[in-house]
Amino acid sequence: MKDAVFSEYEVDIHLQCPNCKKYFRIRNYEIPQDTPSYHNCLECSEGLAIQPFTISVLQDGKKEKSPPKATPAKKKKKPKKAVATKPDAPGSANSLMKQAVQIMKTYGFGYREAKKAVEKVYYAGMSLEELVKKALSEFEK
Ligand SMILES: [Zn+2]
Repeated sequence: MKDAVFSEYEVDIHLQCPNCKKYFRIRNYEIPQDTPSYHNCLECSEGLAIQPFTISVLQDGKKEKSPPKATPAKKKKKPKKAVATKPDAPGSANSLMKQAVQIMKTYGFGYREAKKAVEKVYYAGMSLEELVKKALSEFEK
Protein backbone atom coordinates (compact mmCIF):
# COMPACT_ATOMS: atom_id res chain seq x y z
CA MET A 1 0.00 0.00 0.00
CA LYS A 2 1.23 3.46 -0.78
CA ASP A 3 0.52 6.75 0.86
CA ALA A 4 -1.76 9.05 -1.01
CA VAL A 5 -0.04 12.26 -1.95
CA PHE A 6 -1.49 15.37 -0.47
CA SER A 7 -2.73 17.80 -3.05
CA GLU A 8 -5.23 20.17 -1.56
CA TYR A 9 -7.46 20.55 1.44
CA GLU A 10 -11.00 21.71 1.65
CA VAL A 11 -12.13 22.98 4.97
CA ASP A 12 -15.48 24.38 5.88
CA ILE A 13 -15.84 26.10 9.20
CA HIS A 14 -19.31 26.76 10.46
CA LEU A 15 -19.86 29.73 12.71
CA GLN A 16 -22.81 31.30 14.35
CA CYS A 17 -23.90 34.85 15.04
CA PRO A 18 -24.24 35.27 18.80
CA ASN A 19 -27.12 37.71 18.33
CA CYS A 20 -29.55 36.07 15.99
CA LYS A 21 -28.01 32.56 15.89
CA LYS A 22 -27.75 32.57 12.14
CA TYR A 23 -25.12 30.18 10.83
CA PHE A 24 -22.59 31.11 8.24
CA ARG A 25 -19.51 29.36 6.98
CA ILE A 26 -16.06 30.19 5.78
CA ARG A 27 -14.01 28.01 3.49
CA ASN A 28 -10.40 27.33 2.71
CA TYR A 29 -8.64 30.58 2.03
CA GLU A 30 -11.32 32.65 3.71
CA ILE A 31 -10.30 31.08 7.00
CA PRO A 32 -8.14 33.51 8.90
CA GLN A 33 -4.86 31.97 9.99
CA ASP A 34 -2.82 34.82 11.40
CA THR A 35 -5.03 37.77 12.07
CA PRO A 36 -8.76 37.86 12.76
CA SER A 37 -11.08 38.53 9.85
CA TYR A 38 -14.46 40.16 9.91
CA HIS A 39 -17.90 39.21 8.79
CA ASN A 40 -21.18 41.07 8.79
CA CYS A 41 -24.10 38.94 9.79
CA LEU A 42 -26.49 38.67 6.86
CA GLU A 43 -29.45 38.48 9.19
CA CYS A 44 -28.92 41.20 11.75
CA SER A 45 -25.91 43.03 10.27
CA GLU A 46 -23.88 42.54 13.43
CA GLY A 47 -20.14 42.92 12.79
CA LEU A 48 -18.39 39.74 13.87
CA ALA A 49 -14.71 39.10 14.37
CA ILE A 50 -13.52 35.66 13.33
CA GLN A 51 -10.53 34.58 15.38
CA PRO A 52 -7.73 32.84 13.47
CA PHE A 53 -7.52 29.06 13.14
CA THR A 54 -4.51 26.91 12.60
CA ILE A 55 -4.85 24.53 9.73
CA SER A 56 -2.27 21.83 9.69
CA VAL A 57 -1.87 19.03 7.22
CA LEU A 58 0.12 16.22 8.73
CA GLN A 59 2.44 14.74 6.18
CA ASP A 60 5.87 13.20 5.80
CA GLY A 61 6.69 10.56 8.30
CA LYS A 62 4.04 11.41 10.81
CA LYS A 63 1.97 8.44 11.75
CA GLU A 64 -1.25 10.29 12.39
CA LYS A 65 -3.91 9.26 9.98
CA SER A 66 -6.25 12.06 10.88
CA PRO A 67 -7.54 14.28 8.11
CA PRO A 68 -6.52 17.90 7.95
CA LYS A 69 -7.99 19.55 10.95
CA ALA A 70 -8.69 23.04 11.99
CA THR A 71 -8.18 23.95 15.59
CA PRO A 72 -8.51 27.35 17.14
CA ALA A 73 -5.10 28.93 17.28
CA LYS A 74 -3.55 29.26 20.67
CA LYS A 75 -2.96 32.78 21.60
CA LYS A 76 0.73 33.28 21.75
CA LYS A 77 2.23 36.03 23.71
CA LYS A 78 4.44 37.90 21.33
CA PRO A 79 7.76 38.54 22.95
CA LYS A 80 8.66 42.13 23.21
CA LYS A 81 12.02 43.10 21.87
CA ALA A 82 14.57 42.17 24.43
CA VAL A 83 16.04 45.31 25.84
CA ALA A 84 19.73 44.98 26.36
CA THR A 85 20.52 45.92 29.89
CA LYS A 86 24.11 46.38 30.89
CA PRO A 87 25.50 42.88 30.90
CA ASP A 88 28.15 41.91 33.42
CA ALA A 89 30.56 40.94 30.72
CA PRO A 90 29.29 40.48 27.21
CA GLY A 91 29.23 36.86 26.18
CA SER A 92 29.76 35.48 29.65
CA ALA A 93 27.61 32.62 30.84
CA ASN A 94 26.09 34.84 33.46
CA SER A 95 25.01 37.60 31.11
CA LEU A 96 23.74 35.09 28.58
CA MET A 97 21.57 33.47 31.20
CA LYS A 98 20.37 36.86 32.39
CA GLN A 99 19.37 37.84 28.88
CA ALA A 100 17.59 34.53 28.40
CA VAL A 101 15.66 35.06 31.62
CA GLN A 102 14.69 38.55 30.47
CA ILE A 103 13.34 37.14 27.21
CA MET A 104 11.50 34.38 29.07
CA LYS A 105 9.85 37.05 31.18
CA THR A 106 8.47 38.69 28.07
CA TYR A 107 6.77 35.37 27.34
CA GLY A 108 4.99 35.71 30.65
CA PHE A 109 7.15 33.47 32.83
CA GLY A 110 8.04 34.52 36.32
CA TYR A 111 11.64 35.38 37.11
CA ARG A 112 12.24 32.37 39.32
CA GLU A 113 10.77 29.70 37.03
CA ALA A 114 12.52 31.24 34.04
CA LYS A 115 15.87 31.31 35.83
CA LYS A 116 15.49 27.73 36.98
CA ALA A 117 14.75 26.50 33.46
CA VAL A 118 17.56 28.53 31.95
CA GLU A 119 20.09 27.24 34.46
CA LYS A 120 18.93 23.70 33.90
CA VAL A 121 19.42 23.67 30.13
CA TYR A 122 22.44 25.94 29.85
CA TYR A 123 25.71 24.60 28.57
CA ALA A 124 28.83 26.51 27.61
CA GLY A 125 28.98 27.71 24.04
CA MET A 126 25.28 27.78 23.28
CA SER A 127 23.70 30.79 21.67
CA LEU A 128 21.14 32.97 23.35
CA GLU A 129 18.49 31.82 20.91
CA GLU A 130 19.24 28.18 21.60
CA LEU A 131 19.20 28.77 25.33
CA VAL A 132 15.79 30.44 25.23
CA LYS A 133 14.39 27.75 22.97
CA LYS A 134 15.58 24.95 25.25
CA ALA A 135 14.38 26.72 28.35
CA LEU A 136 10.95 27.26 26.79
CA SER A 137 10.75 23.60 25.88
CA GLU A 138 11.15 22.77 29.57
CA PHE A 139 7.64 24.10 30.02
CA GLU A 140 6.14 22.05 27.24
CA LYS A 141 6.68 18.76 28.99
ZN1 LIG B 1 -26.88 37.98 13.39
